[in-house]
Amino acid sequence: MEILIIGCGFAGAVVARQLAEKNHHVRIIEKRNHIGGNCYDCYDEYGVLVHQYGPHIFHTNSKEVYDFLSKYTDWYNYKHEVVGNVYGKIIPIPFNLNTLMKVYGKEKGNALKKELIDTYGENSRVPILELRKSQSKGIKEVAEYVYQNIFLKYTMKQWDQKPEEVDQSVTARVPVLLSYDNRYFQDEYQGMPLKGYTKLFERLLDHPLIQVELEKDAKDLLSFDFKDNKILVEGKEFGGQIIFTGAIDELFDCSLGRLPYRSLRFDFEHYNQPYYQSNGVVNYTVSEDYTRITEFKYLTGQDIDTTTIIKEYPQKYENSKKQVPYYAILNDENRNLHQKYVEMVKPFGNFYLLGRLAQYKYYNIDGIVLEALKLSKQLGGE
Ligand code: UDP
Repeated sequence: MEILIIGCGFAGAVVARQLAEKNHHVRIIEKRNHIGGNCYDCYDEYGVLVHQYGPHIFHTNSKEVYDFLSKYTDWYNYKHEVVGNVYGKIIPIPFNLNTLMKVYGKEKGNALKKELIDTYGENSRVPILELRKSQSKGIKEVAEYVYQNIFLKYTMKQWDQKPEEVDQSVTARVPVLLSYDNRYFQDEYQGMPLKGYTKLFERLLDHPLIQVELEKDAKDLLSFDFKDNKILVEGKEFGGQIIFTGAIDELFDCSLGRLPYRSLRFDFEHYNQPYYQSNGVVNYTVSEDYTRITEFKYLTGQDIDTTTIIKEYPQKYENSKKQVPYYAILNDENRNLHQKYVEMVKPFGNFYLLGRLAQYKYYNIDGIVLEALKLSKQLGGE
C-alpha cells in the first residue's frame, strides 16, 4: 500500500517507520527545511547543541514508548529539575515538601505538611485549582502562596488568562506534590536522546522504503474532491492512505474559522562562561516578560566550556507565515471548531489526522508516540 505522510515530527516519523517495517512505501513531505518537527535540535554557531523550538524533555510511564524509541537512540540519564525565581528567592517547582519547608521554615512547614498529608495522602499530586477549594486555614494559606507566586503571573504570561480560565488539564500538568521529589516529572522513564533528537529522527527515518521531501507544502500537493470524496495528490487520484500531521484549519484556508493557538518568541543568548544558571530550567513565575530560561547543556549533558540559553516570550498566534502555533487553546468553543474540521475530512476514508496540530491537542512526546504506534497498528504496521 502507498502511504503519504504530511509532516515529519514524531507523529509522522513514527508512523512512517512502522509502516515501512511492514513493507509499505512511505513518502513524507515536510514544509520546513528539516526533519524532527518542534523537537529538532542542532549545534549553534558556538558549538552548543540547542533545541530550535524550545526545550523538549522526554519522560514516560509507557514501557512500549520507551522500548520503541530506545531502538533508535541511547539515552543521557537526565532528571529534569526546575526552580522558580520568586522575587529573587529560588524554590523547587513543582511546589513540593522541599518547597514547603523553604517557604515556611521547619516548624510551620511541618504542621502544614501534616495537614496536607492527612487531607490528600502522602505522595499525592494535587492540582492547584483543587487545593484552592480547601476550607482549612492552613491549606488555604499554602494554596494562596502557590497560586500567587507560581501560577498566576506565569499563566497570565503564557496564556493571557488566569489559571482558572485555562483548561484544567493545563495547570494540572504541574501539581502540588506531597513528597520530597524535586523532579519536574515523576515518570518511570526519563532522559534525553544521547546524541540529540535530530539524530534519533535520522535513524528512525533511515529505511529504504521511506522517502522524505523537505520544503514541500501539503497545500501545493493535495486537493479534495468533496463531490466524489476523493483526494488528489499532484492532480492524480490517490488510492493509498494519507496521514496528515499539520494544521488542519490551514489546510482548508481556515474556511470554517481559524483555530486559536498561543505562540512563542525565543531569544537565544550565548555566554563565554561554563554555566549561566543553577538548573536546566528556571521559571520566572512573578517577574519578567519571559516565562522561563532554559540552559541547554544541563539537558543535553554536553561537555563544553561556554553556554547557550533561551528565553521564552509567549505571544498571541496571529501570523501563520511568521509564527509557530505551539499550544492549542483548549476550550469547548475551540474543540467544537476543530470537530467541524474532523467532520469535514471524515467522508474521505483514507485521510487520518494525527498530532498536536491535526488533532488540536496538548501532546507530550510520549503521548504522540503512543498514538502514532496505535495508528500504525490500525493501518497494518507493526
Ligand atoms: N505553570 C505555571 N507556573 C510554573 C509552571 C507551570 O503557572 O512555574 C502553568 C502554566 O499555566 C503552564 C502550565 O502550568 O502553561 C503547564 O506547564 P508546563 O511546564 O507543563 O508547560 P510546557 O512545558 O508544556 O510549556
